Order: sequence, then structure tokens, then C-alpha cells
Amino acid sequence: MLITLTDAATKIRAANKILITAHIQPDGDAIGSTLAAMMILRSLGKNAQVFIDDTVRRNLQVLPHFEEIRRPVDGETFDADLLLILDTSPDRIGNVSKLTDAPILNVDHHVTNTSEGVDLYDEPKAAATCEIIYKLARELGAKITPDIATCLYAGLATDTGFFQFSNTQADTLAIAAELIRCGVSPNFISEQFEMKTLAEVRGLAAALNSLKIFYDGKVAGMTLDHATAKKFDSTEGFIDEIRVIDTVDVAFLITEKAPNVCRVSMRSKGVNVSKIAAELGGGGHIRAAGCTLKMPLADAEKILIEAIGSGFAN
Ligand code: 5GP
Ligand code: MN
Repeated sequence: MLITLTDAATKIRAANKILITAHIQPDGDAIGSTLAAMMILRSLGKNAQVFIDDTVRRNLQVLPHFEEIRRPVDGETFDADLLLILDTSPDRIGNVSKLTDAPILNVDHHVTNTSEGVDLYDEPKAAATCEIIYKLARELGAKITPDIATCLYAGLATDTGFFQFSNTQADTLAIAAELIRCGVSPNFISEQFEMKTLAEVRGLAAALNSLKIFYDGKVAGMTLDHATAKKFDSTEGFIDEIRVIDTVDVAFLITEKAPNVCRVSMRSKGVNVSKIAAELGGGGHIRAAGCTLKMPLADAEKILIEAIGSGFAN
């Protein structure tokens, strides 16, 4: 059921033991929003714990209280009276769903979130889930400490490409300014988040070497096979290097994470890539979306290029 932000705040006020989670393959908004929510709820006297069922890439591990995030282990349960799911619909939280059968409160900004049977506050106009958590903190009367502000700023910065993408609204910048007043060091976040290992830079070189152009230059794509991809931790930012090509509308990166498991990332300047991703079992935003294709890399590339081609037609 779709609910308002005030309803979401009421549900949080009524709960005492809150399990917080976000999507697998977590990004800065997933980790930033869950950690900020944990600190906010604890400041209100609640018992709050973050679980994420995935590894978290190194750059994000600098966020305050990162070390308190737990990963569910087999057979584990967690006593909660509310499961707060952030930045995704409930189908992308891995085994966190097995920890509790507490009622779900889902807070998200993905246009593709079509969760049914749960309380959902979805604000696709919000640049990041962290923007909504900021508003929720205000609604709940919580104080925004420097640590909370840092986590919220991290999510805003990640999902707007450091305030460059079209989802950057006046509100986004106003909230970012307020977070800086609350104690964020913007340079700390940008320096930590743009940092790459030597292996990652070599990985970027390998990805760029695979660059192919389709549909008269409107589409640019890169692929990383498993033998190459396994040498480094993260492909964050790789796709941005080809998104900038002047003729390109849609850019994609396919990373073979494991044999026959291909992660697809898409970025666009116009075409609605969330529709293309949703057709392939994934989701996301109009200009940034992704999916996982369980098939050999060459097949994934063929299917994706066809789906992008139909995206131009729609
Ligand atoms: P990225 O390319 O950075 O991994 O993802 C871009 C956007 O698409 C993010 O908002 C991310 O949450 C969303 N996204 C990526 N992969 C998937 C997927 O498999 N399913 C859904 N629902 N969303 C995805
Ligand atoms: Mn997000």
C-alpha cells in the first residue's frame, strides 16, 4: 500500500526494534541511508540494526559506523517489530528476508518499485533515498549529527554523480548545503569515493579496450569477462567514461561477475533505461538502471543490444 512520509514516521515511532536493510550490490545511497537511519533511530531510543546481505566495496567502508553492519548467517533470526527496507523493493535484500517476519516499511526512490502487500513510501523525484531519510529525520525531530550528515551526504553525492545528473534538484542542493552545516566535509567523501586501487585502474583500461559502438554511435558498450573482472573489486565509475561520448545516448557495461552471471549497468541521456532493465528482470531510474543476466557474456551482450534497440523505438 502506498503511504505518506508522515505515515512512515508514525510507523517508525510505534516500533522499538527495527531491522534496517537495503539492496544487495549496495551503493553509497544504500549504505548511507541504512547507516543514517540506524543512527537516527538509535538517537530516538530505538533498538536499530543494519543487515546487508552482500560484501560492501572498500570506498564505502569509510562511512561512520560501517563496522556495525552485519551480514545474515545461515539459520540466523533477528527479533524485530519492523523491517525497514531502503533504496529497493523487498525482492533485492537477499537472505535478510529470512531474519524476521516483522511487518515491512519500504522507503524508496526507484520509479520501478512496484512492491505490493507492504507499506511503501516511494518518492521517484527524490534524487536519493538519503534525501527522504533527511526529511524523515526532520519529521521525527531527530538531531542531525556530523556522522548522520556524512552518511546522508554520501548517498546524495553517489546517486547524483556528485550533483551533476538530471535528478539534482534545488531541494537536493538545499539539503546538501544543510548537511554541510551539520558537519560534513564534502572533500572527505569525494576523495574517498573516487579512490581506486591500481587493479581497478587496470580494469578500467581493460574495459575501455573492449569498447564497441552500435546503432550509428547512439550506443556504446563495454564488457569484462570473468577472468578479467575477478582481478578487482569494483567497476564503479567505469561506465561514466563512455557515457560522455558526444554521439552516445545509451552506455552500457556488462561485467561477468561469475561464469554465466552477467551484471548489466546502463546510463542514458534520453532513453528510459529503467524500462529496458525492467524488461530484463532488473530496474532502476530513467537514466541509470541495471539487471543481472544469467547466461554467457556473448549472449548477454546480444540480448541487451536488442533490448536497447527496442528502447529507441518506444
Ligand atoms: P548501477 O548501474 O549503478 O549498478 O545501477 C544503477 C541503478 O539501477 C541503481 O539505482 C540500482 O539500484 C538500479 N539497479 C541496478 N541493477 C538492478 C537490478 O538488478 N534490479 C533492480 N530492481 N534495480 C537495479
Ligand atoms: Mn538510491
